[in-house]
Amino acid sequence: MKRGEQLVRTVEDMDTEAQAFVDALTPEQHSATLITLSGDLGAGKTAFVQATAAVLGVEGPITSPTFVIAKVYLLPEGQHFDRLIHIDAYRLNSLKDLNAIGFGEMASNTKNLIMLEWPEQVEGILENSSLNIMIEALDDGARQITYA
Ligand code: ADP
Ligand code: MG
Repeated sequence: MKRGEQLVRTVEDMDTEAQAFVDALTPEQHSATLITLSGDLGAGKTAFVQATAAVLGVEGPITSPTFVIAKVYLLPEGQHFDRLIHIDAYRLNSLKDLNAIGFGEMASNTKNLIMLEWPEQVEGILENSSLNIMIEALDDGARQITYA
């Protein structure tokens, strides 16, 4: 897994960063691989997931899942993961809410790469994720990304 800090100057540079993130991805062996994304509204969490989806070969628009909570993208064959699942937990309040959208089943499948925004909304999620990606917007528009 990628660790440490990285400066991303523009939204276009997110693609390069997402490639580095994907290259360093270590899939979990007994569950889905859960990646959480933290940061303020507009920090670039969705932009990061969109860049990752493009790197993984998802074609077509990758929109914010805010209004549907979760979006599932089938990935082209020949990769470790079969699916990229993008979850926006902004409107959720508990693990019960998350399980209501089928999270338990999603999280048990090793072929799933789950990228979840707003993990702070759901108790226990941050602790159970393989990696947290913290994104901060700097004054000049660049983004500081911390992988921990
Ligand atoms: P979040 O999901 O964290 O609320 P979004 O990804 O939806 O944030 O929005 C981030 C916005 O910031 C996008 O409109 C994106 O184009 C813009 N942006 C500007 N500079 C950058 C950068 N360096 N990295 C990522 N996004 C950037
Ligand atoms: Mg978002």
